[in-house]
Amino acid sequence: TKWVLSFGDGSAEGRADMKNLLGGKGANLAEMSNLGLPVPPGFTITTEVCTYYYDHDHSYPPELNDQVRAAVARVGELVGAGFGDAANPLLVSVRSGARASMPGMMDTVLNLGLNDETVEGLANSAGGDRRFALDSYRRFIQMYGDVVLRVDHAAFEDILEGVKDTRGVSLDNELSVEDLEQIVSLFKEEVERETGQPFPQDPEAQLWGAIGAVFSSWMNDRARTYRRLHDIPASWGTAVNVQAMVFGNMGETSATGVAFTRDPSTGEKVFFGEYLINAQGEDVVAGIRTPQLLTKASRERSGEDKPSLEEAMPAVFAELERVYQALETHYRDMQDIEFTVQRGKLWMLQTRSGKRTSRAALKIAVDMVDEGLITEAEAILRVEPSSLDQLLHPTLDPEAVRDVIARGLPASPGAASGKIVFTADDAERLAKLGDKVILVREETSPEDIHGMHAAEGILTSRGGMTSHAAVVARGMGRPCVSGAGHIRIDYRKGEMSVLGRVFNAGDVITIDGAAGEVMAGAVATIQPELSGDFGRLMVWADGHRRMKVRANAETPADARTAREFGAEGIGLCRTEHMFFEDDRILAVREMILSDREKGRRAALEKILPMQRQDFVELFGIMTGLPVTIRLLDPPLHEFLPKSDEDIQAVADVMDADPEHMRRRASELHEFNPMLGHRGCRLGISYPEIYEMQARAIFEAVAEVKRDAGETVTPEIMIPLAATRREIDILKALIDRVAAEVAQASGLELHYLVGTMIELPRAALRAGEIAESAAFFSFGTNDLTQTTFGISRDDSASFLDDYIEQGVFEKDPFVSLDRDGVGELVQIAAERGRKTRPDIKLGICGEHGGDPSSIAFCEEVGLDYVSCSPFRVPIARLAAAQAAI
Ligand code: PEP
Ligand code: MG
Repeated sequence: TKWVLSFGDGSAEGRADMKNLLGGKGANLAEMSNLGLPVPPGFTITTEVCTYYYDHDHSYPPELNDQVRAAVARVGELVGAGFGDAANPLLVSVRSGARASMPGMMDTVLNLGLNDETVEGLANSAGGDRRFALDSYRRFIQMYGDVVLRVDHAAFEDILEGVKDTRGVSLDNELSVEDLEQIVSLFKEEVERETGQPFPQDPEAQLWGAIGAVFSSWMNDRARTYRRLHDIPASWGTAVNVQAMVFGNMGETSATGVAFTRDPSTGEKVFFGEYLINAQGEDVVAGIRTPQLLTKASRERSGEDKPSLEEAMPAVFAELERVYQALETHYRDMQDIEFTVQRGKLWMLQTRSGKRTSRAALKIAVDMVDEGLITEAEAILRVEPSSLDQLLHPTLDPEAVRDVIARGLPASPGAASGKIVFTADDAERLAKLGDKVILVREETSPEDIHGMHAAEGILTSRGGMTSHAAVVARGMGRPCVSGAGHIRIDYRKGEMSVLGRVFNAGDVITIDGAAGEVMAGAVATIQPELSGDFGRLMVWADGHRRMKVRANAETPADARTAREFGAEGIGLCRTEHMFFEDDRILAVREMILSDREKGRRAALEKILPMQRQDFVELFGIMTGLPVTIRLLDPPLHEFLPKSDEDIQAVADVMDADPEHMRRRASELHEFNPMLGHRGCRLGISYPEIYEMQARAIFEAVAEVKRDAGETVTPEIMIPLAATRREIDILKALIDRVAAEVAQASGLELHYLVGTMIELPRAALRAGEIAESAAFFSFGTNDLTQTTFGISRDDSASFLDDYIEQGVFEKDPFVSLDRDGVGELVQIAAERGRKTRPDIKLGICGEHGGDPSSIAFCEEVGLDYVSCSPFRVPIARLAAAQAAI
């Protein structure tokens, strides 16, 4: 087996489409080599080695050793140096590289191959620059010590700061050769003290140490958390990239930088990035020094005075421009690139499709269609449906008063207010309690991911647009302001100060990630516009999808929002929500607590006009569109009065004894209400309830017809049926009421009676149920609950354990379980269609707004999905993607 693939010198054994085997980074390094771009030579150890490593008790395939040795030798030949050669040493970088970019794993070890001897050789080949060689060596010990040998990196920082203090200098580059020699030996002592072993001097041992660290980082906590949040399977594994070092820290003609071929925040077609002169790779990303801008235009726009790369190194910039344009045309997508300039020569270290805000994703996709680079269908596939959420995020109300306390970089758009927290753990803890929080850090690291996820927004005092905080926040769709340099954070005291004002943990602030502003207190926000690029992409998506998208809505406000977002009808109107409105609940309780039909009917008489009015409004908003109305579903248990006050109130209107009421309430109490007296079981026991609801619906249809001349065809839906008989009984009742209303109004009424499929038995008996039901709507919330036998309300206590241990890949209440619940859906669809070929099929569980579940619905051939109003655009896009 070939476990190692080489690249560099204008050719490569891999290609861009070999991401599964080579990881993203490795595949793209190979592709860039094949394109003839300047890539330092190197090789990729495949993800299959990672799989082997975990299948074989952390050991490697026997052939690996020889293959790695040969690949190292080849790299040495190409650059004219030898691994471990004291006179002319080959140095390499070692980086992880999974299929999807994954912060949280071991990132990088640079300068590997340095030891007490080769450091002198490096000084020689750098024209006698010992300072540079020693600085590289101390960086290597520090990085290797930290990520491979697991020596606390703060220990190295302390040593470094200590030496700087005694020398009375504040910047690294003010240290003398002797200082660096001292730091190197103190670093080595620290390693020996912490690990009990001297710092490894053998380059081969160093290399295998780094390779092992990459593979074991695949299973560290941070990587696992990241995979869980991003649905990345553990089985993918990571590759390892070993590449000849090039140095951006060889003096003033050297530099390192990161760039995007278009603006990752706005999507604008401008080359965008940052660089540092005389610095090494990770300095830009880590946000340690504030970087300079790449283009003259962006420098002028920002009012920055340090020269741009375009001005400082015009020839290099011209070459970089040529390269980035070639990359964008080749990949037909916005690229995120890393480069290093070693003594005036440009080297490309990475290219990948760039992370971007959803606004940028949209603009880039739409622009690229206009530029003729991609097709409409490709543009549809370029935008992650769930990322549209970001576009639906609020922005600051321009009228609102703002007390701006600091400015930073507009790292990720959206506005958010919340309480200040200073640690990721606090963010997570308070968010679980329902607080909105803003995570405030000097800078973030992969350890903070869970807190960034829990926070409404992120604020950092250091770091640029490509800092960890900025990149991750954009990916997550969290507003972020980074590098707000005037903010001083004191983690120990739990406070931040800015120009003399002090804010404590728990104080509310607002950040505007689009403007880069930080404000005291909460500032009013407004909802965004849904036109422009968003509108165009949605029109394309609508042209490509087969399934209709409806909304789950019952209030007029929700129904209006749903229509604004493009819903094509209502797929689920939960009538019980109407029962909870203001004074109605009293009448509802009166109805429930009556022990006789007569009393119930009297109470229902009070509810009827209100319910009818609800439907009149709903039909008005949904003119010309289908409206599916579900008859009462929840257990009456949920409506019972609990406090003495509530019981007294019902007793008063009913002119009854409160004690009697209390007894009746306790009779109706259920131990397992979700499997209890609910759904169509209510209609069977208390037909007068469904009768009232059917009457309200039909009278509303008649009223709308009479007053507005509109014909509405309601789809009346029976919940939680398990048998055909239930539907037959209730359908007869509905038909009878329809006939009565038709007779009384003299109008012809059109309607459908159908059922939800929420129980495994209903799915299995769908063939006969379809004889009575004109449509099925899959209630996958209940169907998931009843298929797994897991309570929707009480599963949180063990769900994390189940996901952690791989029993569930994802929460089955969020993403449809294709294997089990999905099979039931499929069976029901097939059997239903067999009986009634034109049966209408839809889904109205939460899964109707989940992109991967929507893809499943397309496979099964459902006619529509229905989801909450805010997810309608997501569903429209996901349905289009599923159909392409
Ligand atoms: C369902 O069960 O999927 C459903 C839509 O109904 P509810 O969530 O109201 O039980
Ligand atoms: Mg249900």
